[in-house]
Amino acid sequence: MPSDWTYAPAPEARDIVTLEERYGLFVGGRWVEPRSGETYTTISPATEEPIAEIAQAGKDDVDLAVGAARDAHENGWSAISPSERAKYLFRIARILQERSREFAVLESLNGGKPIRESRDVDLPLAAAHFFYYAGWADKLEYAFPNRRPQPVGVAGQIIPWNFPLLMLAWKIAPALAAGNTVVLKPAETTPLTALLFCDVVRQAELPPGVVNIVTGDGRTGAELVKHPGVDKIAFTGSTEVGKAIQRELAGTEKRLTLELGGKAANVIFDDAALDQAVEGIINGIYFNQGHVCCAGSRLLVQESIYEPLIGKLKRRLATLRVGDPLDKNTDVGAINSKAQLDRIKELVAAGEEEGAEIYQPPCRLPEKGYWFAPTVFTNVAQSYRIAQEEIFGPVLSTLTFRTPEEAVEKANNTAYGLSAGVWTEKGSRILWMAQRLRAGVVWANTYNRFDPASPFGGYRESGFGREGGLHGLEPYLEFE
Ligand code: ADP
Repeated sequence: MPSDWTYAPAPEARDIVTLEERYGLFVGGRWVEPRSGETYTTISPATEEPIAEIAQAGKDDVDLAVGAARDAHENGWSAISPSERAKYLFRIARILQERSREFAVLESLNGGKPIRESRDVDLPLAAAHFFYYAGWADKLEYAFPNRRPQPVGVAGQIIPWNFPLLMLAWKIAPALAAGNTVVLKPAETTPLTALLFCDVVRQAELPPGVVNIVTGDGRTGAELVKHPGVDKIAFTGSTEVGKAIQRELAGTEKRLTLELGGKAANVIFDDAALDQAVEGIINGIYFNQGHVCCAGSRLLVQESIYEPLIGKLKRRLATLRVGDPLDKNTDVGAINSKAQLDRIKELVAAGEEEGAEIYQPPCRLPEKGYWFAPTVFTNVAQSYRIAQEEIFGPVLSTLTFRTPEEAVEKANNTAYGLSAGVWTEKGSRILWMAQRLRAGVVWANTYNRFDPASPFGGYRESGFGREGGLHGLEPYLEFE
């Protein structure tokens, strides 16, 4: 019998992607040079190789983009018939499907996530979002009967680096369906799929200025937030920046939705199907290297099954393949940036120092690039930083409970409230838990499951406003 079950490399070909050496800003349907004159280099986090030069948009660039969005809104987009709007969205959805391999490869190259995930999750969901909202574009009167829905105007949208294209779809699809125009800023480390999306916008012959993409770091985001010509800000990112944006917008007319961090409890009862629960735990925290705001980062296990469950979990952990994001066999890819890797290391060191017990399966990490082995902490107290703070990496903190009441109390012992998971055979217990868990989404016997028809969003420090579903249209509409 072979004792070594290593996989042969199965790399996805990169040549489907054509890269420019240097990218401008996409404003009014054209590529323009940044007036700021500033650029930076975007890299592959798996190898640290430079990939392209990206514009760092300044105040004047943001102003130009907002102006283009305003023009497009007032000179056509808000007035065209809703069924025409729907056609554009359907077209974008279909083009994304047609070009999905190209987008998936670029997403993995620029962001470090496994190709298996960008191919099977990010791309299908991004296209599904456009299909879904295309369906609503000409049915707003039915969606909100007797309320005379009108577009808000120009939406400023700021997105993070963990699901670059998918977050773009979450933002742009409902905004356009509702008749708005947008200026979107991708995260500084992952601009490339948003820039490739500009090509899709052109291919779909969307009127110029309906979608504008400005690249740059937080300074560009701050300019967009401040700009007086923006009617609505939609932000997904850290709680810290979300709070700063809320302070900035206090007292203004601008509308705001925030989708921020999380520290979700994934609760395993002793009657749960353990092997399925282990898969759910793995999917909950190691999917996308744990760079997931709704990640199941706090595992709560009923005491009677703690030992067997942790044993199974450790064995499963040892089978995860960490490495080249473009290899089709990879389960855990690269950490998105050096800054994020440093943050993960800092919190993991704090966990060890505070007294938690660390387990990492033996795995060889590549020498170049940013990597972190899948990690489980046991013996964690609720007060530890690793049980309270969002790590945003492949690190699981494990706690125990005895009764359902204790599970609820511990699950809710967090400043966040984005998501939670419950694993049990009992339907009544699922409902009992779902009523008590203070989280925007509660998954039962599954985790990290998404559908464009299902609203997503948080409570407390996880933000406010919902994306997805009918709820996701409301922030982009005004009612008479
Ligand atoms: P993370 O810590 O996960 O990188 P951030 O909240 O810093 O999350 O980043 C999310 C998005 O917000 C990125 O596009 C980033 O450039 C942008 N951003 C960062 N700082 C600001 C700011 N002060 N105002 C507006 N946008 C910002």
